[in-house]
Amino acid sequence: MTPTENTGDYISSLFGPEDEALRQSRAEAQRAGLPDIAIDPAEGPLLQILARMVNAQKIVEIGTLGGYSGVWLARALPENGRLYTLEASPKHASVARTTFERAKVTDRVTIIEGPALDNLPSLLPQGPFDMVFIDADKPSYPAYLTWACEALRPGGIVAAHNALRGGRVLRPETETDRAMAEFNQLLAQEPRLQSTIIDMGDGLAVGVKKTANHSRANP
Ligand code: SAH
Ligand code: MG
Repeated sequence: MTPTENTGDYISSLFGPEDEALRQSRAEAQRAGLPDIAIDPAEGPLLQILARMVNAQKIVEIGTLGGYSGVWLARALPENGRLYTLEASPKHASVARTTFERAKVTDRVTIIEGPALDNLPSLLPQGPFDMVFIDADKPSYPAYLTWACEALRPGGIVAAHNALRGGRVLRPETETDRAMAEFNQLLAQEPRLQSTIIDMGDGLAVGVKKTANHSRANP
């Protein structure tokens, strides 16, 4: 085993080492000049565990970038499962297409190009969904959450990346920090979900959609 630099490396080296396709996805994104903002390798298995816990067949990802997190998610799906991943940038979507081909998951992945808010309404009839992973423009997170609450089945899970912004949600410095702090507050108050933030990587906010029975017993 190679020596590890930090706890994230330690966790991913134990529980989810990257294979060739995932390593190449990073390299390809770098070559194409994409921003270096994909999930950490240690967060990949976390997304997969969440997907498997809800026996996910249908997942929506908002914010594809080069397809790195998409590969982790697609690999947690059964053969007949589907990942719908939404991306505004044609350049990012094109890198993602290559990544998905290399990882041999194209049969399970649909890339939807364009601003997510334009395309989410027409995706609704493909649901209900088992999992929604939000990882795009932070000011739109509240709108994505509203959509997710409607689109998820009871028992389904919403996960939102960068919930802690390197700790800056405690004392927001930028508009983006502030947007995330406001989103977290909104999530905490959303009665249809039970939520928390997993303090791993840059923070993963998670909420599970309550069933009617849960809501009656424990409002
Ligand atoms: N989930 C990816 C990282 C996503 S980075 C991973 O971990 O591998 C955020 C992505 O959201 C960027 O590619 C950006 O182009 C995209 N994005 C930003 N605003 C968007 C919008 N309104 N609709 C769809 N995608 C958007
Ligand atoms: Mg992110």
